[in-house]
Amino acid sequence: MTATTDNPFLNFRDAVELRIAAADQQRLVRRIAVEHPDGRAVPAHTWYQQLAANVAARMRAGNIVLCPHVGPGRSLGPMHCTYTAGPMELQCRTCLAAVPPRLNPIDDNTCDRCGVYSRRGLLIGMLPLGPILIGFGLCRSCAGEIGAGRPETQAA
Ligand SMILES: [Zn+2]
Ligand SMILES: [Zn+2]
Repeated sequence: MTATTDNPFLNFRDAVELRIAAADQQRLVRRIAVEHPDGRAVPAHTWYQQLAANVAARMRAGNIVLCPHVGPGRSLGPMHCTYTAGPMELQCRTCLAAVPPRLNPIDDNTCDRCGVYSRRGLLIGMLPLGPILIGFGLCRSCAGEIGAGRPETQAA
């Protein structure tokens, strides 16, 4: 899915909705980075591209559960995806607020980069992909390797 008005598969209304939703997600990420006590922007890394490509591939393959307000023929508002190795859900913002995704304890503590279970918990990140905000979790080791670790735990 590309978020441009040049896309011949989007009519003007869809293209406008898509741009508004994408801008809204960018604003949300920036706001969280400022307002959350541990929030901050992190440097770009190729792993984020791989994560986005993986989510897009799974969506193209139909390997994702959609809330009733997301999908073909629906309006293109902000959407939220919690990345897991297991079944992923794509939800509108209203459904996310009403019924947040419930990860099982294994998924909830399994690093989305290396796949290792972390008893210490994960650092939670958000990646905007057009109108979709992808939530993911990284173990401290992976977070450090891609420059997303907490500043005091970063390797020198
Ligand atoms: Zn919904
Ligand atoms: Zn990891």
